[in-house]
Amino acid sequence: MPVPLLLGCIADDFTGATDLANTLVKGGMTAVQVIGVPEGALPEADAVIVALKSRTAPAAEAVAESLAACEALLAAGARQIFFKYCSTFDSTDQGNIGPVADALARRLGCGFALACPAFPTNGRTVYQGHLFVGSALLNESGMENHPLTPMRDANLVRVLGRQTDGAVGLVPFAVVEQGPAAIRQAMTRLKEGGRRYAILDAVTDAHLLAIGEAAEHHALITGGSGVAMGLPANFRRAGLLPERGAAAAALPPMRGAAAVVAGSCSRATLGQIGFARGHVPVLELDPLETPDAAALAAQALGWAEGRLGAAPIVIAASAPPEKVAALQAKLGREAAGTLIETALAAVAEGLVARGAGRLVVAGGETSGAVVQRLGIRSLRIGPEIDPGVPWTYAEPAGLHLALKSGNFGARDFFLKAFEGAAA
Ligand code: ADP
Repeated sequence: MPVPLLLGCIADDFTGATDLANTLVKGGMTAVQVIGVPEGALPEADAVIVALKSRTAPAAEAVAESLAACEALLAAGARQIFFKYCSTFDSTDQGNIGPVADALARRLGCGFALACPAFPTNGRTVYQGHLFVGSALLNESGMENHPLTPMRDANLVRVLGRQTDGAVGLVPFAVVEQGPAAIRQAMTRLKEGGRRYAILDAVTDAHLLAIGEAAEHHALITGGSGVAMGLPANFRRAGLLPERGAAAAALPPMRGAAAVVAGSCSRATLGQIGFARGHVPVLELDPLETPDAAALAAQALGWAEGRLGAAPIVIAASAPPEKVAALQAKLGREAAGTLIETALAAVAEGLVARGAGRLVVAGGETSGAVVQRLGIRSLRIGPEIDPGVPWTYAEPAGLHLALKSGNFGARDFFLKAFEGAAA
């Protein structure tokens, strides 16, 4: 029997989309992340998450892409639309959270939507409309210096208010504490009072679950992945979503050789490479010595010959800060990044051509380059390896991919990922 689409999601960046998909799968929904505005039929799943790169695009472009994604999700039967943005509310006074939410609300004919970026597990909480990162207000958290979206005001009622032509209200902590019925009432009052949005306070996961329940009948929900935690239960309560349990994370069987391609220079990834060195073959590329993408890739693929198999091999360009600085001084920052990304994408492609069927890619930008080179259109989300990093099944390539943001994962991540996986 075909699986009807329940939740249609639009995420303003790639890793944010995976984070949301992972949350929904843990809640018992099947989820597929689609890369870019979907063309043609959508994959079958309880939730489809369209991953855009619209966070820092010009507002008009972000609006147009989000509306196109929304159209595709509605055409596939989505019953509710979720607009996912960063838990630090990354945006500027020009957008893009306000303009995209405005356009989606207009398209969906809803006069009101909640806005809640809280993600207590990661230290993002909202109190009296103010966003905290750990114990610091957003504007004192380092985010005030973000190169693209500096956040210099922690008061989200004001921040969102500057980005929308609608009015913004607040459902404060004291109401959220009282649970779904009180939250629903407060939102109705705000809507009747002419507010288009409400920032919702949330300090704990219990708050997020209550907010999710209160938004059961909303056409549009906006927020971080945290507020999506409560949504699978709504669909179950309505009899639309069967109890899937762990089956929600089921992927086709793993096959093929195992490999790790690392381009992240984050501390966690460097630690993971160090740990792997004692256990499996590790090749560390030297781009200072060989500043040529094709030559680096050829070196790596030559080394992999005869080593590829059921136990993982690790190919890394990752380097400590002084080596990164040296390459950047030689080539320029951007060219250095592009060199490595191009080389590692070619390595991934070569490994797949030589029989690799399960790949871990370390680094956000590196993952983007690999996904693009392999021509991947969608990722079905599977079981979580470490918090925030699930195995996925990539199509049309037909292979298993784990795309690890640089700082994620425990020290043994590169081994743990392949434990219990068949060759
Ligand atoms: P993270 O998720 O840790 O931020 P990314 O892949 O997003 O990782 O970013 C790491 C960047 O560093 C990429 O652009 C990559 O090409 C670049 N890089 C990797 N190794 C080196 C190196 N040895 N010297 C300079 N830059 C590097």
